[in-house]
Amino acid sequence: MKRDEFLGRLDDINVWKSSGQRAPNKPLLLLLALGRVFNGRGRVASYPEIEPELKGLLQRFGPPRKALHPEFPFGRLPADGLWEIPENGTLTTTSSGDFHVRELRDRKVEGGLPQPVYDLLRHDVELVREAVQKLLDGHFPDSLHDDIRNAIGIPRTWEMHDSPVRPRDPAFRRDVLREYQRRCAVCDFDVRLGEELIGLEAAHIKWHAAGGPDEVANGLALCGLHHKAFDRGALGLEAAGKGFKVLVSSEVHGLSDPIRWFLDFHGKPLRPPRNRQFDPDPSFVNWHQREVFRKPPLE
Ligand SMILES: [Zn+2]
Repeated sequence: MKRDEFLGRLDDINVWKSSGQRAPNKPLLLLLALGRVFNGRGRVASYPEIEPELKGLLQRFGPPRKALHPEFPFGRLPADGLWEIPENGTLTTTSSGDFHVRELRDRKVEGGLPQPVYDLLRHDVELVREAVQKLLDGHFPDSLHDDIRNAIGIPRTWEMHDSPVRPRDPAFRRDVLREYQRRCAVCDFDVRLGEELIGLEAAHIKWHAAGGPDEVANGLALCGLHHKAFDRGALGLEAAGKGFKVLVSSEVHGLSDPIRWFLDFHGKPLRPPRNRQFDPDPSFVNWHQREVFRKPPLE
């Protein structure tokens, strides 16, 4: 296999459903496998070995779902030519064509990258890094990339550049910050060094990686902390009156004084844009509620 063919297959994994539901299962399994290659942990592993690791990634970086199904990508990824289950033909399947999780566990069924893919990656650290970046860019916002890298054991290194994968609209940041008067829409943070804003960012409500557009109605000016919290689902939004209010997830906790400061934003109004025609579009807010925010909110 050639590297272009491999990278093309990564592009082809069809993970976004038409409804805009997040389904990062396959990318997370691949990231887990790339982490194993990078760290010399071998090509194949048994399902009982992979299950807890993949479940952890789904819990942290997947959409909020009642049930996590690490067995789905384990069984479905072979169709994309990026996973191999040597015992494939001997396993029974459910009506939806998935493997029975109990059988995967009991028989310690093994899975891993196909041999040609593994051979390609094993001696090419740069290709591993490129593949990781492609999966991160395709499925997750920038603010989560380093957390995911650390979770799979492929940290960013100083010589890595952000890859110029998708053209970004430079007007997006400028217009969003202007409409929100250069302050965090949650906490009013507006620290400047001279004329330069420090730590204020233009966040997408519906992730760019999920097809969210570079439009002000899909943007919020947020400080670095609230941007990260919003992308991880610690913060959410809910319609209130003519605008929106801030929700804090009930999963948020901490012991030090600043936690009170963080939790106190729950129920507070979100700062609206200067021109109300640019108010957040409810369809993007609903997407974030459904696919990112860690319900339930605080009481
Ligand atoms: Zn803030």
